[in-house]
Amino acid sequence: MKIMVPKNAGVCWGVERAIEMAHQTLENNLHEPTVTLGPLVHNPEVVSEFENKGVKVVSALNEAPQGTVIFRSHGVPVSFYEEAKERNLTVIDATCPFVKKSQNFARRLGRLGYVVIVVGDANHPEMKSVRSFISAEHLVTMDPKDLNQISPEKKVGVIAQTTIPKTMLDKIVDACHERFCEVEVYDTICDATKVRQEEAAECAAQVDCMIIIGGQSSANTKKLTQICQKIQPKSFQIEHEREIDFSWFSGVKILGITAGASTPVSVIERVKRFIEEKILLN
Ligand code: SF4
Repeated sequence: MKIMVPKNAGVCWGVERAIEMAHQTLENNLHEPTVTLGPLVHNPEVVSEFENKGVKVVSALNEAPQGTVIFRSHGVPVSFYEEAKERNLTVIDATCPFVKKSQNFARRLGRLGYVVIVVGDANHPEMKSVRSFISAEHLVTMDPKDLNQISPEKKVGVIAQTTIPKTMLDKIVDACHERFCEVEVYDTICDATKVRQEEAAECAAQVDCMIIIGGQSSANTKKLTQICQKIQPKSFQIEHEREIDFSWFSGVKILGITAGASTPVSVIERVKRFIEEKILLN
């Protein structure tokens, strides 16, 4: 059986950077407690690896002991920087620079008097972070109908959640041009998700079975699985190689393996090796 892995499968640049920053912090901070505010990445294996090294996950800053807190790549609400300072915590800010760019656009548009429309999922942590940087009127939405909440006389500025499809941003921008006279648009979508989705689709079209590695709570991994399942119904999402059922590979000549943007490349390699070794033994 041949195994194909798309070129950019697995961890994106922003998450890799956050993991690297956490490793560096551990090396520098041997004697001080270090925590992450929320799981560092949507990958239970990576999170438990850090937990084994003493990095606890806290869900609020008041749970953090005196020491260092790592803010993850999605970003945090702006008030958390102030709260961390008041609590005398050292902050390692692993917010992805692409998310920082969105935060800056959001703040600037609000200051310039625009109503800020953020295209994205209001419940996503990145959106909670970005909207907190806007001191003016704003709306987080994925539905053009919601634009009716804003007076047509207002000028609007549009930005996007980094991981949404471009078609979703375009739909809202078109609706904005119909309703408002002044529309300023900043396309803040990051290519990492799009590239992974396109490559996964290409791979799924060429194989007899697809394995998608990533946390069950990872939205981008779930999306990859849906995309692959539409093209290749024998597509299975796993968090760990022990979940693999080798009957999936019956009659399979080419197997594809991909992974969500929080899964380190080393995990993809490990799963690949595991499958190759098992098949050689049988
Ligand atoms: S998907 Fe893009 S914006 Fe999000 S962490 Fe990765 S590189 Fe940054």
